[in-house]
Amino acid sequence: MEQRGAHISFSHVGLVYDDGAEDTEALHDLSFEAQPGEAIALIGPSGCGKSTTLHLTAGLLASTTGEVAVNGNRVGHPRQETAFIAQDLGLFPWKTVLQNAALGLVIRKVPKREAYDRAHAALDQVGLSGFDRSYPKELSGGMKQRLALARALAMDADLLLMDEPLSAVDALLRESLQDLLLDLWKDRGHTQMLVTHSIEEAVYLGRRILVFSERPATLVADVSNPQMGEDGWRDSAAFAAKCHEVRSALAQGGEGRAR
Ligand code: ADP
Repeated sequence: MEQRGAHISFSHVGLVYDDGAEDTEALHDLSFEAQPGEAIALIGPSGCGKSTTLHLTAGLLASTTGEVAVNGNRVGHPRQETAFIAQDLGLFPWKTVLQNAALGLVIRKVPKREAYDRAHAALDQVGLSGFDRSYPKELSGGMKQRLALARALAMDADLLLMDEPLSAVDALLRESLQDLLLDLWKDRGHTQMLVTHSIEEAVYLGRRILVFSERPATLVADVSNPQMGEDGWRDSAAFAAKCHEVRSALAQGGEGRAR
């Protein structure tokens, strides 16, 4: 596997949303590192600060205290090499599938011809070839997810951040999209960080699972999951045992202690 992932470091990171009337402390003294090529799943109670963590990594938010760095550089604004798939997928209904897939590149000022060539290749990779001239409203839910993924792939990112990208699709489709995400991660070797509220999804797609506490989020468990990605993993007894381990960490908010 080609190693092309980014390194992430959170060092004593705190984030307070200042909304005028009331401050909300979303993160408190959060520290962790992700090695190049790691696949991390973030899981924790609703509203604990998972999306905030992703936005900080993407450079869409600045920390109140502490430092977030990618490849050793403090993240002050969105990097060229970071792809972010938001919960709502961020597709533009008035743009074609090809234009939507090329958008990340066009925003980054890649020449149009090259952007469209790369977008076209990425659409192929996610099984959407032939839909270049369609519009998002003509696509099924699963195809829209594939399109959002194609946009990220076209950017040739070393860091792929995803905020519950599969939460709106039904169970079977979700499994096939999870398989696609897994295959792409194995092929490309980028660093991946996925926010999910599904224990099974975290255990299927996270080589490492970070379990957050209630807000303000701190790390209550850092669960390594070395068998992730092996053949038959989803149906194995070890998979069920790992789900149990993560469920216990979530419930007890402390079993398995952060390292
Ligand atoms: P999660 O992704 O774990 O559900 P978030 O990171 O979205 O949680 O939010 C963490 C906390 O910060 C929540 O209490 C949420 O209401 C609050 N929050 C998120 N965004 C903002 C904002 N822009 N202004 C004020 N509070 C916010």
